[in-house]
Amino acid sequence: MGSGKFYLTRIISIKEEKIISTGFRKILFIQIAILILVFTTSCDQSKTGNAIYTAYSTTPNKENITPASNVEKLLRVDEERINDTIAKLCTENRSVGSDGERKAADFIKSQLDKYGYETEMETFPYSNQKNVLSRETFWDVFPSEDKVLGYSRNLIAYSRQNKIEETNIIVISAHYDCAKSSPGANDNAAGVAALLEVARRFKSVSKDFQVEFIFFGGEEMSLSGSRNYICRLNKSEKKSIIANINIDTIANKDDDYPIFFTVNGKENLATKILTSYKGNKKIQLEMACGISDHFTFEQAGIPSLTIGQKPIHQKIHSPKDSIDTIDMEKVKFTILALTQALKQNFSDIILLNTKEPGTMVQ
Ligand SMILES: [Zn+2]
Repeated sequence: MGSGKFYLTRIISIKEEKIISTGFRKILFIQIAILILVFTTSCDQSKTGNAIYTAYSTTPNKENITPASNVEKLLRVDEERINDTIAKLCTENRSVGSDGERKAADFIKSQLDKYGYETEMETFPYSNQKNVLSRETFWDVFPSEDKVLGYSRNLIAYSRQNKIEETNIIVISAHYDCAKSSPGANDNAAGVAALLEVARRFKSVSKDFQVEFIFFGGEEMSLSGSRNYICRLNKSEKKSIIANINIDTIANKDDDYPIFFTVNGKENLATKILTSYKGNKKIQLEMACGISDHFTFEQAGIPSLTIGQKPIHQKIHSPKDSIDTIDMEKVKFTILALTQALKQNFSDIILLNTKEPGTMVQ
């Protein structure tokens, strides 16, 4: 265990240097590009600058503003599709093991199929475990037959044609189940819609890295989806995951813009990937244990964070978590925070459908 941990730490620091140095090269390039764009588009900026800025940060700073004409294009995401996804997921309750949860997974898979992903559906049994967050029982994920309450599924989409072993994987995740008696709009249909939109925009990344998009089932049942996912990996598969970025409760209109939460409130490789994009630098970092699937990755020694809102408002896990409480600007904020940071860190990310309105500019 000890030597394994040392090896993983070393691997991560090597990856970190590579990611950050690639980031610096990109920043230099982007800064030069921005200077040229500022010069050529300065007449248009006054019209849209303020509105655009609020989507990036809650603490305005002139230095963070990207030229308006460019950002305007970035913000033209397809709201209708995002809204449809949230509405579709909220038509039926998606509590663990329910018909609604099964239908939600099938719907997400159909979208990923459309975007050309190879997917894998993992079925797992769940039980009602007590004190799951304690170290002693955290990895007891396979209940005895008499304790099984039902089955749920994780859906995994690979960013490349074939799953390649021993590569540097960044797992981006969101749970699609919800609490009983709740439509689960903010927790976490909005997060699923954001993740699907990020997935739609990416086709592939550089040879050195791989992005996996995972839609976890059973999060509301003691993080059972992510715990099962990690437990099924062998040692080398676990080592190949260098970071987890999770999305959970991002879009309630009465709450602030999303911030990053890590288990100990400190920076790690996952936060560095996101904050190396200049527009994300002002996003606040706070501590949160056990509130979402990022906790499972941290327990497995994988740097992680969850993008979410604070305070954890009263509407989640209740009938009040309905679609009319969703703030589309916050969903778009999350999509941009992720896609821009990933694009900056992984130089040859290819974006899909770049000519279609509402997609990212290259
Ligand atoms: Zn949640």
